[in-house]
Amino acid sequence: MTIQLQDPSLLKTQAFIDGLWMDSDSGETFAVTDPATGQPLADVASVGATETRRAIAAAERAMTEWTALPAKSRSEILEKWHRLIIENTEDLAVIMTAEQGKTLAESRGEVAYGASFIKWFAEEGKRVYGDIIPTPQTDRRGVVVKQPVGVVAAITPWNFPNAMITRKAGPALAVGCAIVLKPAAETPLSALALVELANRAGLPAGLFNVVPGSDAPSIGGEMTSNPTVKKVTFTGSTPVGKLLMQQCANTVKRTSMELGGNAPVVIFDDADLDLAVAGALTAKYRNSGQTCICANRLLVQEGIYDAFVEKFAAAVSEFRIGNGFDASTTHGPVISEKAAKEIDAKVQNAVAEGATVVIGGQPGEQGGCFYQPTVLTNVNDSMRVFREEIFGPVAPVFKFKTEEDAVRMANDTEFGLAAYLYTESMGRSWRVSEALEYGMVGVNETAISSEVIPFGGVKESGQGREGSKYGLDDYLETKYICFGALQR
Ligand code: NAP
Repeated sequence: MTIQLQDPSLLKTQAFIDGLWMDSDSGETFAVTDPATGQPLADVASVGATETRRAIAAAERAMTEWTALPAKSRSEILEKWHRLIIENTEDLAVIMTAEQGKTLAESRGEVAYGASFIKWFAEEGKRVYGDIIPTPQTDRRGVVVKQPVGVVAAITPWNFPNAMITRKAGPALAVGCAIVLKPAAETPLSALALVELANRAGLPAGLFNVVPGSDAPSIGGEMTSNPTVKKVTFTGSTPVGKLLMQQCANTVKRTSMELGGNAPVVIFDDADLDLAVAGALTAKYRNSGQTCICANRLLVQEGIYDAFVEKFAAAVSEFRIGNGFDASTTHGPVISEKAAKEIDAKVQNAVAEGATVVIGGQPGEQGGCFYQPTVLTNVNDSMRVFREEIFGPVAPVFKFKTEEDAVRMANDTEFGLAAYLYTESMGRSWRVSEALEYGMVGVNETAISSEVIPFGGVKESGQGREGSKYGLDDYLETKYICFGALQR
């Protein structure tokens, strides 16, 4: 299959280092395939540690002039990049659906969401303020300035091939850092198209390098050990995040970790049922269940349980899984056959332990990467669907009795990214929101993310925040300067 674009020059298959497109030193490539059809889409340069080292050196050289520019000048280039992303939405969406599988409508939505981070940080980058601190001594003043952290290495996942990059590149570039990015091997084409547009926007050579490759440990090993890299920002699974943190310890790099989740949606008896069903559907099945803030566990109070399951399953039965380019498709494939098998293993584990399949529960007939939207009842907290991130279109619906039970069950996980609750009680919304050990809580709402809010988790879901005014902090150092001898 070939990807048909209005601007075919957006389809890049080489690495982008120091402002130049290049093959890997070895000439090796890796294949990118369409999960909906299994057809190959492109062969992309597979770089390793050596090319990554060169990209880091280029980033260090480029940063000197970039940091010295007024924030307004950096902002103007980012604004231009944002405009180009928006103008090329359709091509970027087509590339994304081809390599990731999500529906074209979802891809268009992600391009807009991804672009919003570039615009936001183009604006926010102009507002990096410091402080003047009154000191205990009359002849001194303390001044705090914020400076760019240095060369940033970024590693991103396949589930949001555009937005997970712009959430990092936007703030890093806005405050004066340079960046070296390793995109997920499943979805490098979206990353390469983004950097092509940044280049067209006039971003100077070396500031944004993309090092695609099929040997992630080699690229990641260089990024985490190279002393020039001052910060590693990662979005992906918790086990890989832990490994990268360990590797960063040797050179004491700063890290931001956006890791896995196990989000509960807690639905109380006093909830607006239709609102709760609609919210849970979006939270569970968006991107075919492959988002880090996807509802993993639906916790429903006993008085509303049967009514909820009936309405929820009826809505799920309307879904149409298929190729993301087909206008009638509501939900695309999952990312790989391996992922589909892993989802099935979790469902079969639940069934073997007594779960009831209300709907779905089988691989899809459309191909190896498809899984039927599934609803499970009679589930309990010893099953894998309670303990582990499902990352697929499977909704286990657990029953609880009291508010105390709900909070205990919701918090009974090592993860702490997003949680949601549905209730019409003001007091309960406050109480439960405050008791949930999560970085983000949605009350009567599951569409909680945008560029203006601080996105991130607690516990083993990570550290650091992306988006919002707080998203700049992850790319800034705080420097204290003491001005003394003021009485002379
Ligand atoms: P993953 O396996 O951890 O991969 C993420 C990235 O890490 C990919 O680029 C991967 O490269 C790279 N990687 C893997 N092993 C590495 C190593 N040893 N050294 C350096 N890099 C390495 O995660 P995934 O399956 O792609 O993504 C899904 C996970 O991301 C889920 O757990 C999800 O919850 C999480 N996520 C979190 C957030 C958030 O904001 N908290 C957002 C989105 C996703 P290759 O592709 O080449 O293997």
